Parts: sequence; C-alpha cells; structure tokens
Amino acid sequence: MKTVNHWIGGKTVEGTSGHHGPVTDPATGAVTTQVALASLEEVDAAVAAARTAYETWGTSSLSARTAVLFRYRALLDAHRDEIAALITAEHGKVHSDALGEVARGLEIVELACGITTQLKGELSTEVSSRVDVSSIRQPLGVVAGITPFNFPAMVPMWMFPLAIACGNTFVLKPSEKDPSAANLLAELAAEAGLPDGVLNVLHGDKVAVDGLLAHPDVAAVSFVGSTPIARYIHATASAHGKRVQALGGAKNHMLVLPDADLDAAADAAVSAAYGSAGERCMAISAVVAVGSVADELVAKIRERADKIKIGPGTDPASEMGPLITAAHRDKVASYVTGAAAQGADVVLDGTGHTVEGFEDGHWIGLSLLDHVSTDSDAYRDEIFGPVLCVLRVETYEDGVALMNASPFGNGTAIFTRDGGAARRFQLEIEAGMVGVNVPIPVPVGYHSFGGWKDSLFGDHHVYGNDGVHFYTRGKVVTTRWPDPADAPAGVDLGFPR
Ligand code: NAD
Repeated sequence: MKTVNHWIGGKTVEGTSGHHGPVTDPATGAVTTQVALASLEEVDAAVAAARTAYETWGTSSLSARTAVLFRYRALLDAHRDEIAALITAEHGKVHSDALGEVARGLEIVELACGITTQLKGELSTEVSSRVDVSSIRQPLGVVAGITPFNFPAMVPMWMFPLAIACGNTFVLKPSEKDPSAANLLAELAAEAGLPDGVLNVLHGDKVAVDGLLAHPDVAAVSFVGSTPIARYIHATASAHGKRVQALGGAKNHMLVLPDADLDAAADAAVSAAYGSAGERCMAISAVVAVGSVADELVAKIRERADKIKIGPGTDPASEMGPLITAAHRDKVASYVTGAAAQGADVVLDGTGHTVEGFEDGHWIGLSLLDHVSTDSDAYRDEIFGPVLCVLRVETYEDGVALMNASPFGNGTAIFTRDGGAARRFQLEIEAGMVGVNVPIPVPVGYHSFGGWKDSLFGDHHVYGNDGVHFYTRGKVVTTRWPDPADAPAGVDLGFPR
C-alpha cells in the first residue's frame, strides 16, 4: 500500500509517530493509501525547518522569490492533469472538476508572481522640515496553513503561494482524507527552485493541528474547514498570540425573483447545488423562490437533476462523483430520509443510489427537497452533499429576511432581470460574496475570498489584498537626515508636532 509521508526541509521524511490514517478511493470504497499522522516531535521538526529557512528566505530579494514563483507556475501548468488525477483518486470529484480546482489555485500563484507590485510601500516626503515617512510591509516568519478535504489542491494554493511570496516560510497541514496532492505541490515547488524548508507539508490530525496552534515559532495560522473547527482554531490560535484567519462552513442561498430567466436559474441551481456532489463551501444548498416562481422552478430543477450522470470521477462521462467517506454519505442520506417527517416534500430522493461495477463506492444520488421549513435539520445544518432545499416566500423582503437570519454568510446569489432589486440585494444581504445571476461567486485571485458571520472568524479574507495584508505586518519609518546647514534642534520636551 502507498504511504504518504511528510515533506520537511525539502525532502520526504517518513512518519515516526507510529500512527497512520487510511485514505480511501471514494469510487471503490477501497483503502488505497495510508498517511502518516504527525507527533508533536514531528511538528517541532517541521516548524524548525521552516524557522531555519526563514532566516534567508525572509530577507531574500523580491526578484529571487518571483523567479521561483514564475518557474513554479510553469511546472504546475505542465502537471495539471497529474494533480487533478490525485484529487480524483482520493476526493472522488470528476476529473474536469478537479482540473477546475487546479486552475483556480494556479490563479493565486499568478497573483503571487506579481508580488513586487503588491509589496510596494508608501512614501510621503517633507511631512515636516526635512522629514520623510515611509510605510513598508514585512513578513511574519513561520506561517501554518490547515486545510479541508474538499479542495485538496486549491485551498492550500489560496495560502502558501502568497505567504512565501511575502517572505514567510510555511507549514501546511492538509486534510488527512486526501493528502497526496499537497506533496506533489511541494515537490514541484522544490523543482522550481524553492529553497529547502520554505514550504513544508506535515500530515496529521488534531495532534498536529494543536501542536501548530500552540507552537511559539508559528506566527500566524490560516485555516479553512467546518465552522466548529474554525471557531476552535480562531480561539486557540488567538489565545496563543497568533494572527489567525479561520474560514468556516456555509449554507449558501440563491434568491430567485419572479422576473428571473427561470431556465438560466434552474441551470445555475443544478450546477451549483450538485457540482462536486455538493461538497463545496460555495455550493448553493438553499433556493429561495419568491412569489409565483416556485412550482415552475422546482419542475425545471427536477428535470435537469434527473439527467445528471453519476459515476467514478475517472470516467469522462461522469458529471457527479461519490462522497468522501461512507460515514459522510450516510449522514447526508439521513437528512433526506428525515426531511418528510419535518414537513418537506421530497421531490427527488437520492438515497440508496449505486453505480454498477462500483458497488462499494460512497454513492448517493441527487436529492431535491421542496417546501423546506427554516426550523428543519435539512435547512439549519450544512449538509455538504447533493441535497438542494427549496424554500418559498412571498416577497423579496421576506427572502432577504430569511437569508439574513442564517448564522452563515459565505456566498449568496440573486437571479433577476431587475437591476434595482439586484443593487438593493448587494447592499442588504449579509454575506461576504454576492453573485448577481452568478451562482458560485468565488472571487478571482486579485479580489479576496471570505464570508461573514459563522463563515469566517478573524479580520482578513484569503488571497487578494487581504491575503497580502494577512501575511505581512506594517511598519512606518520616520526619517530626518541631518543637513550641515541646519542649526542644532536643541532639547524640546514637548510632544513632536
Ligand atoms: P474539517 O473542519 O473537519 O477539517 C478541516 C481541517 O481541520 C483538516 O485539516 C482536519 O484535519 C482539521 N481538524 C478536523 N477536526 C479537528 C479538530 N477537532 N481539532 C483540530 N483540527 C481538526 O473540515 P472538512 O470536513 O475537511 O471540510 C469541509 C468543511 O470545510 C465544510 O464545512 C466546508 O464548508 C468548509 N470549507 C469552507 C471553505 C471556506 O472558504 N469558507 C472552503 C472549503 C471548505
């Protein structure tokens, strides 16, 4: 069986804790790989390698850093297929979707290639007689990144390219459910010329995470995962004096107004709800239908959902793959089986679905629940599977009130032809990312990604300008050079004016 080991100090380092976790191919249900789970001593080793590398990388020139990043970009581009294949083998998403994930991660590497522009400081001359003031930004030191299973390449790439471009060194703790892509990303970085220890991959579970959160040499923590763990990471890392950004879970709503193009809205709802089997933090999991549109919209969604082909991600004909684990599949199924008792109309029931020749895979079909109430479990919880809830309201105002009452505020979308309503929505909705006739409004790399409320703990969104700010700290330098023509300033105990 294949073993995934740590990548520390520019080389593969075998796990020594004696603990391993199983990695399963979700399409077959077979355990294909074991991943090393780090001990606290291994956490120390990874942080020490990053700390040592920081001594030179932190003061390296911008041109030296960007030269590596440009080569890295080219290598990632050349290895897209290989990275995507690893994602499909361990996560289960279909290959085309995995390629999309790699492309969106690559965007942040491209952003990092332009760090020279982002790190330009500010200078004000002659703020007082012969006094200049400049603002500069400097790296933090060793930064840790803790990432979820659902984007095993993209989410790490939201973090480390910008962090290292800013001069930090990085310890990545990927999800133990699909760990292989992270190692390939690190190996390619080494091939691109990234010095040893600048990017380290430490595999593990709670032991490794807690070790990083408490480690005195870790200056900052970036986290992406579920809300309960994000809340814990934020509280724990903050208590240890670290800068922390912790992105959590979601329940993303799509508001459909009566004047919307219902075919476009149904296409968007199906793509956004069932893509990647609903295992996306930006998946649409609740459609809020306003006024008279609900019956027609539900019929159109059902018609489209019925045609989706479910199968292994390696089959180019498959549109939707399996869920990450059998336990998760069973949990997702429980929301569908429990929905009718809580008042929902089960329009499509995906439970019990199997795929011929892959009977042990973690399969579930597409489910569509109509007339869902806001106090039902299917609405309140983040299901993280291919289950779309439809809620019905009378007016735009009712829809926005319902959506703003959600504790989550990650992404959201409005479907309408009414520019006034769309504009109002942008201002009134309590979410970090808004789509207008765009169902999954994941910002491009040069804007930042992040939610509100229980979808993000901390002040900084990821990547874009917020990413650069998160991975650097500001310093302001006030300078006066003596001029031989000046009279001595003399002693003055007053506060400088
Ligand atoms: P998760 O919270 O279970 O795990 C995320 C990471 O935290 C993993 O590396 C895991 O090893 C670690 N972890 C898990 N339990 C821990 C504990 N008790 N103590 C310390 N560390 C722990 O999340 P997941 O199931 O891997 O990913 C799915 C979740 O991530 C969903 O809720 C999804 O919405 C969310 N997500 C959010 C975003 C976003 O941008 N907001 C993006 C992707 C995924």
